[in-house]
Order: sequence, then C-alpha cells, then structure tokens
Amino acid sequence: MTILEKAPAKINLSLNVLSKRDDDYHDVEMIMTSIDLADRIELERLQDDRIEISLESRYVPNDERNLAYKAAKAFKTKYGITEGVHITIDKNIPVSAGLGGGSTDAAAVLRGLNKLWSKDIPLNELAELGSSIGADVAYCVYGNTAIARGFGEKIEKLSSPPPCWIILAKPDIGVSSRTIFSQINVEELFHPDTAAILEALEDKNFSKLCNHIGNSLEPITFAMHPEVQHIKEAMTHAGAAGVLMSGSGPTVYGLVEQQSKATRIYNGMRGFCEEVYLVRLIG
Ligand code: ATP
Repeated sequence: MTILEKAPAKINLSLNVLSKRDDDYHDVEMIMTSIDLADRIELERLQDDRIEISLESRYVPNDERNLAYKAAKAFKTKYGITEGVHITIDKNIPVSAGLGGGSTDAAAVLRGLNKLWSKDIPLNELAELGSSIGADVAYCVYGNTAIARGFGEKIEKLSSPPPCWIILAKPDIGVSSRTIFSQINVEELFHPDTAAILEALEDKNFSKLCNHIGNSLEPITFAMHPEVQHIKEAMTHAGAAGVLMSGSGPTVYGLVEQQSKATRIYNGMRGFCEEVYLVRLIG
C-alpha cells in the first residue's frame, strides 16, 4: 500500500512577536494560510524497523536531520509501531524561504502515517505531537487558515481569506529563523494589528486585509538582507494590493485580486528576482 499526501506551503498574513520566554522561545501570534505550492509525500511500508528518505535536493538532508524523518520517528515511538517506512519527498517548496517547507513535510508524514498504519488518531493529537518537532508543524497538520499562539503550538481555525492571486518572490539566499529570532529586541518590535486582520477575514474584506497584513520580523531581516526590502518595494511599486515578507523571510509575497494584474506583476518580478511563483490561496 502507498499513501500520497500533499504538503502545501504557507504564508504569514501576520507574524506578531509578543515576548521572549524564559525557555528562549518567543511567544507569538501568527495568522497563516495555505497556498497551492506544495511538496508531495509518498509513504510505503517497510518490513524492517527503519525510516528511509529519498529526495533530490542539494539543500535538504535525507537522514535523521530531515523533519519528515523526525516526524516518522516521533509517530513510531509514541504509538509503538515496529514496522518501518520509506518516505519519498518530491520537493517543490523553496528551502529556508519562510514558507514552512520542512514543517509541512513533517505534518504530511504525521497525517500520512495515521492512514498507512490505520491509527485513526485525531488531528489535535497529531498537532500536539507535531509541535515537539517544530514550531510550525502543529499549524501545518491542519493547514488552511488558522491563528497560532504560544510558541506556535496553540491553533485556532479561521475563515479563509477572500479568493486572490499571490506572487511569491524569493532572492537567492536562505534565511535561518533561528538567526533572525536571536536578533530580536522585544522593546523595539513592530506589532501588526491582529484584530483588524481577523475582522478582515471574517468580513472577507480584501482591501482591509491588504492594509493590515504585518510581520514583526521584517525590519530585522531587511537590516540583514537589504535585497529583501528591495523586493518588497518593487512588488509594491508594481501594484500588488498587499505586500509582506513571509515568516522570517526571505520570500516576499504580493496579494492581487485580478488574474491579469497578477500575471503582469509576476512577469515584471521575474526580471528582478531569481525565483518567482504565481499561485492561488487554498486556505
Ligand atoms: P523555518 O521558518 O523553520 O526556517 P522555512 O520555511 O524558512 O522554515 P524550511 O524550508 O523548512 O525553512 O527549511 C529550514 C531548514 O530545515 C533547512 O536548513 C533545511 O535543511 C531543514 N530541513 C529539514 N527537513 C526539511 C524538509 N523536509 N524540507 C525542507 N527543509 C528541511
């Protein structure tokens, strides 16, 4: 038996860093939504008690450092599974991009193993297990549109944004979340208006959403990598209605209602930046 599981990328409609905790994590409030740029995960049973990973990527390890491996290991340990699994990852999401690529692979492995080994474990239990692997894994177990609180482990589902197009632009650099979070000075942080974004989602109000999307980490990543700020300026200048850096970057996205306008901005950004995608929201 083979299980196929889609692992969609996410964008942050908001990322609000509230405070630093004693355990060195930060308390955050993040509104995230899934987009139709996805990795594909294939799971096959192995008789031996082994976890194997195949993937073709220069940037992602195929051993126990892979978040998909960690997810399978956590699942096997928690539910006492003595069989093994072969995991094939068809990687389409750019790595270290702020799009949650590793977390969504881990979440897809948890959902997929639940089917492969017929466990019928509820999503909230998988999400709890996921949060021990990485801060965004709990959200990725559910996908769609949700707000994550705590260090990312407390998830509340939200209504989806109004339908629109998204242009993603990623410069040819990877950004480590850990490095960006280590640069935070809590007193100086910008705080997005989460309540206004929640209202915009509830009312399906596209322009209100575009006016309030915000990310506490933008100034920190911009200071370290000015090219990310340049991409934001170019996308704004090109006419996207809302423009924001996702996660700790470096991917910047623009929200656009009309397909023709989105295509024009996509083509314009391709002359400016190495990796550009035109996708839709699926959250
Ligand atoms: P984060 O905010 O956690 O950094 P991101 O979306 O910016 O997330 P990822 O693509 O998840 O970045 O990659 C972050 C790191 O995780 C990279 O160093 C990568 O090698 C490692 N990694 C481990 N497993 C995976 C995986 N399955 N897919 C992508 N990256 C992975």
